[in-house]
Amino acid sequence: MKRINIFSSVLFALLFALVQLHPSKCLGENIAVVTSIFPVADMVRAVGGEHVDVTFILPAGASPHTFEPKPSLVKKITRARIFFMIGAGLEFWAEKFVKLAGPGLKTVVLSEKVSLIHTTKDHYAAEHHDGKPDISDRKSSFANPHIWLDPVIVKLMVNDIAAALSKVDRQHEKFYKQQGRKYLIELDKLDKMIKAEVDVFKIKEFVSFHASWDYFARRYGLEPVGVIEAAPGRNPTPIQIKNIVDQIKRHNIQAVFAEPQLNPRAAEIIANEAKVKVLLLDPLGGPSMKRRSNYIDLMKYNLNVLKEAMQ
Ligand SMILES: [Zn+2]
Repeated sequence: MKRINIFSSVLFALLFALVQLHPSKCLGENIAVVTSIFPVADMVRAVGGEHVDVTFILPAGASPHTFEPKPSLVKKITRARIFFMIGAGLEFWAEKFVKLAGPGLKTVVLSEKVSLIHTTKDHYAAEHHDGKPDISDRKSSFANPHIWLDPVIVKLMVNDIAAALSKVDRQHEKFYKQQGRKYLIELDKLDKMIKAEVDVFKIKEFVSFHASWDYFARRYGLEPVGVIEAAPGRNPTPIQIKNIVDQIKRHNIQAVFAEPQLNPRAAEIIANEAKVKVLLLDPLGGPSMKRRSNYIDLMKYNLNVLKEAMQ
């Protein structure tokens, strides 16, 4: 009994010491960062490590294209020192929150250095509800925002993240640069792996659920021949369905892709018609999702799904 007592008091002392240490390290010093989507939050975590507190806005299962933020979002954004957004129209809902946060918030648009793929006006207007450009869309009114699904583009994003963190927190500049470089090596490995696998795909054409895989396709030599939802959340017309089914047959495509953030119904209808499988590609992942709980794993998961359909 006595031994247990001594043991537990030692344990208590240890825990107490840890608790004492922890707040002095976390409170006040850490850089509060907010991102719109989970993959960017994961990149910030990789670069910022223990010196940042990163949260992201989009809850698991939500699509940025159909997202309707609650007023409470203003608190999350106002608390942050830096807001990393993709831009190119992805965060069409963010403008008013950024304005409310005022000049204390540094907003970094990660698509600014990227050569953007442009989508049709139709797609754009439907995604933006009112058809008007917004601050996340400075560069082009009709840009495709899914840049993070190309790991080589992510290298540019990681450099921007490391630079922004360094500017706000000079004290840890060396750390951010070093972590950034380490992550770039991981991204190079990922890029090589994807390239090697995709190079031997027998089928290069694919039908995606929405236009999320265009940057990935451009990087690795795949060809999107159809999009089930020309605008996320809008069902295809019978003529569009027929065109997609024709493409599937012409290119001997084995599967169509659905996405966890959007209703798969239209994909199921097309798959039925064309007698192919429905597989799940995930552009966003999430911290509690199996095999998709960080950006690198998310991309490996997607690579495996593509392999199943196109090898
Ligand atoms: Zn999307």
